[in-house]
Amino acid sequence: MTTLPTVLITGASSGIGATYAERFAQRGHKLVLVARDKARLDALAERLRAEAKVSIDVLPADLTQPADLAAVEARLRDDASIGILVNNAGVAQSGGIAQQSAEGIARLIALNTTAPTRLAAAVAPRFAQAGTGAIINIGSVVGFAPEFGMTIYGATKAFVLFLSQGLNLELGPKGVYVQAVLPAGTRTEIWGPAGLDAKAFPDFMEVGELVDAALVGFDRRELVTIPPLHVAGRWDALDGARQALLGDIRQAHAAERYRSQA
Ligand code: NAP
Repeated sequence: MTTLPTVLITGASSGIGATYAERFAQRGHKLVLVARDKARLDALAERLRAEAKVSIDVLPADLTQPADLAAVEARLRDDASIGILVNNAGVAQSGGIAQQSAEGIARLIALNTTAPTRLAAAVAPRFAQAGTGAIINIGSVVGFAPEFGMTIYGATKAFVLFLSQGLNLELGPKGVYVQAVLPAGTRTEIWGPAGLDAKAFPDFMEVGELVDAALVGFDRRELVTIPPLHVAGRWDALDGARQALLGDIRQAHAAERYRSQA
């Protein structure tokens, strides 16, 4: 019997991360659970150990703090049993750029972009060397939508999509699978701290439905999984338009329309 890889999940104390923990435990994977709230991680670990009979480690960390982030990087580098990284921890934001504090902006960017990038970079050489492994990055459809009024949050999620696409090109040929998962509104705790009440949005997706759909994409080895996108061809068209645009970039000269003031 082959041993299933251990899964390290960030932001595993609630919402999407806790649901990934449940689902991977049910599939028989060992887990390493990362978030700040040790008591919640311990309670989840205890429940899943009892329900799924898998071994679970708890690694409390504030991923915006350099020493904590370094500890999770070290675990990913050194623990050869870890074969799947779920970069899920994230915070949202409400209000326009003028309403943000410098500290709030720094925290949002540190958690939503720096942490997943550094954790992916910590594990990628080992996965590439082994010729196997998977990195799941949780983005958001807000990354497509400056119209939603969550500019900095959306920018961090656009970053996550680009990061995933780039990692896929770099690591895919070496046997490493990369998936970007882009939820839309999902019923979790993220909205309270961001000043929004999820109950005010009756059409939000239940978190179990979101993660189960994301895992269908994972099992199919999709690069980009958008559970709430009902017309799959929309994504293909968008990505096709991006590639066509690249085909019309000719860097030696400015385009004709910029060659005179008229
Ligand atoms: P959530 O229930 O609030 O979970 C966020 C998780 O991140 C918690 O486990 C939290 O745990 C952890 N976390 C927060 N700050 C942290 C820090 N400084 N260091 C380490 N962990 C930290 O929200 P969620 O909806 O499940 O969000 C998960 C991911 O999905 C996020 O990346 C989010 O942007 C994305 N997403 C959510 C939605 C949605 O509608 N819910 C839509 C699109 C994308 P502790 O507080 O214990 O640290």
